[in-house]
Amino acid sequence: MNWFRNFMIGRNGIDQLNMGILIFGMVITFIGDILTSSILMLTTYFIFGICIFRMLSTNISSRKKENYKFLEYWNPTRSWLKIKYNMVRGNKIYKYFKCPNCNKILRAPKGKGKIIVTCQQCKTKFTKET
Ligand SMILES: [Zn+2]
Repeated sequence: MNWFRNFMIGRNGIDQLNMGILIFGMVITFIGDILTSSILMLTTYFIFGICIFRMLSTNISSRKKENYKFLEYWNPTRSWLKIKYNMVRGNKIYKYFKCPNCNKILRAPKGKGKIIVTCQQCKTKFTKET
């Protein structure tokens, strides 16, 4: 494995964008397999080609810029998905509600009766039944 380590020195490797492309490629492969679509299967070769190109690229500054732009969109999406997941999963423990002023999603433990909630973002105070 030492030759591989030496080979990868100075190359981009796997970053978040590459993982995103890889997962997207897998989803397209899965859909293409179900629909037996040759166009989708050819598209996956192109997608995985991009992934391999980015992984082996020695132009690290450009790859980092691409990854940074990807993260600008992915990070808010990921935290939104995480909140939605927690709203479903943590339903027995926490109650979720929106701040009436800034619409930030807040949570409080259930079964505490009527409480005064202070928004962390805009410091608005309001009462909620938990
Ligand atoms: Zn607020």
